[in-house]
Amino acid sequence: RSVLYWMRMSDLRLRDNKALSRASQKAKEDKLPLIALFIISPQDYIAHDRGARKIDFLLRNLAALKESFSELNIPFHTASITPRKSIPSFVLSFCEKYGAGYLFANYEYELDELRRDIDVHACAAPKGIQVNFEHDQCIVEPGVLTTKQSNAYVVYSPYQRNWLATLNANLAYFLEDCPFPEANEESIRSLEPFSCLFETPVPSSLDGFQLTENDQEKMREVWPEGEKFAADVSSRVTQYDKARDRMDTDTTSRLSAYLSSGVISARECVRATMVLLKKNKVEGDRSSGVGRWIQELAWRDFYKNILTAFPRVSMGRPYLEKFSNVVWENHKVSGVGRAGTGDEDVDTLKKWKTGMTGVPIVDASMRCINAMGWVHNRGRMIAAMFLTKDLMIDWRVGERYFMEQLVDGDLSSNNGGWQWCASTGVDPCPYFRIFNPHNQSLKADPNGDFIRHWIPELHSLKGSDLHNPPRELADKLGYPQAIVSHNEARERALRRYRNPGAK
Ligand code: FAD
Repeated sequence: RSVLYWMRMSDLRLRDNKALSRASQKAKEDKLPLIALFIISPQDYIAHDRGARKIDFLLRNLAALKESFSELNIPFHTASITPRKSIPSFVLSFCEKYGAGYLFANYEYELDELRRDIDVHACAAPKGIQVNFEHDQCIVEPGVLTTKQSNAYVVYSPYQRNWLATLNANLAYFLEDCPFPEANEESIRSLEPFSCLFETPVPSSLDGFQLTENDQEKMREVWPEGEKFAADVSSRVTQYDKARDRMDTDTTSRLSAYLSSGVISARECVRATMVLLKKNKVEGDRSSGVGRWIQELAWRDFYKNILTAFPRVSMGRPYLEKFSNVVWENHKVSGVGRAGTGDEDVDTLKKWKTGMTGVPIVDASMRCINAMGWVHNRGRMIAAMFLTKDLMIDWRVGERYFMEQLVDGDLSSNNGGWQWCASTGVDPCPYFRIFNPHNQSLKADPNGDFIRHWIPELHSLKGSDLHNPPRELADKLGYPQAIVSHNEARERALRRYRNPGAK
């Protein structure tokens, strides 16, 4: 007999992991061996547009976890399962083979994964296997916070106020410390059938998700795997209140890859800030770096709440359905359904993807994403707004490209960010508020250091010439002319949003 912990893509850690902690407690109480399982599901990764960087980060963390589990004498088995619809029956037969009467896992809130878990539950119950799902990804789990009318919040500010108040009123519950698993008895290594589970290797790459050698090296250097890197949270964000929108400074935490894959728990981030501020409540003080940072963390919970309350957003549909018929320049990919079926590599889209639009702040942001798998939030907003409003290309095409490139790609946050920029989402930027990329550039990168770093062609330029290079200068430096006039594009976007369906 045994207890099974099924690790998911969003909880790649041992520390402060609710399902793992509960599983280890159960194993200890009932004096049963604890075993751990991870299912690699390439079909799911394709369906969710997961990129090679995200998968490489996953596999590197799994390899590190395999070692950490092994030190605790907990066997950690990884299995690659295709087709994905066979996952529930695989899990069931795994439980039967290893005598697991208890299965613990953390919820994943994406629709396909919730459906899979319903199937697992339905198959397991008749066999007497007790299945326990835990809320672990968010600080305040989805569904807890509602408006006075018991509806899901669709506006961020009141959600965030309630988030902070509810959190502070229930600190012990929401910030529960989930202790590290107990070590297994040494003898589990020699117990049949568990011994073979110690041996299964974690693959170093997956077909269809391979990185080039250079990219792999870069990712390893910039986003090292493991729980250690993520630990020192709060010292990174002391200037967050003053400079969090500056793309030329390193003032944000850069923890998104770790948070989205659960290499660090969001609870632990909050606890760390309390220790730093020597407070016994969660500080919502906007005038301190750490206090301001905590409030941004609530965006993560907000968008997961939206994903569960309005699953249509994960099916390629806008939250504001009145914008379903906005006419995009690449008509074929608009409408219901996932993006990516039509004229994707039209010339303008290619220029946006490769950072060759002739608008320096957009190009620098895209080159940064392409090189690092990450860019500052402001860069994501500027690039996304430019694609949807200046180029009038369907937000779903951009959403997909970001997912493919980002090491922190996360359905709820990415979809939320894209729908905000496209003005189709909850609490969106109103459609008539269209970023002027040059003004954004002056604010986010006043000295031009970010642009000069990512666009070496413009290295010699300063001031407004750098943010909006005159034609002759751009030609001379081998940098493209802007592919669109912002003022004309703005008029086109206003026309199409005002009257969805019209050209
Ligand atoms: P910090 O500023 O240090 O924030 C700390 C953490 O809070 C982040 O790591 C993140 O987990 C959370 N957070 C902060 N702002 C947001 C936000 N606006 N929405 C959701 N969570 C937030 N974030 C992702 O994690 N994955 C994505 O795929 C993703 N795609 C995005 C796409 C677009 C178009 C936009 C506009 C935003 C997207 N974001 C995404 C949100 C945000 O840009 C990143 O979380 C942030 O830039 C990560 O850098 P950081 O860790 O230094 O953030």
